[in-house]
Amino acid sequence: MVKDKDGNETELLCLACNKPITLPKYIVEDYKGEVGCQECGYILYLKLEDWYVREYRIIRDNATEMAAKKTMEELRKALQEPERG
Ligand SMILES: [Zn+2]
Repeated sequence: MVKDKDGNETELLCLACNKPITLPKYIVEDYKGEVGCQECGYILYLKLEDWYVREYRIIRDNATEMAAKKTMEELRKALQEPERG
């Protein structure tokens, strides 16, 4: 159980599938890092302070990140080439 901004104990619901996430034992009242959803496998970033949820968001998976980076590099290259010539 975690606490919402009003201090009420609440289940941590997955931002992707909305199912309650069972917190692993290594997650304690002050935690900052990743937590995986057992239902859909999404990786979420969670920041707890005394069980209060301070930050909670979906982490983009690495494949998407890499693909986006590659596209950006190719775009930049394509834009730069005419100037050099
Ligand atoms: Zn989920």
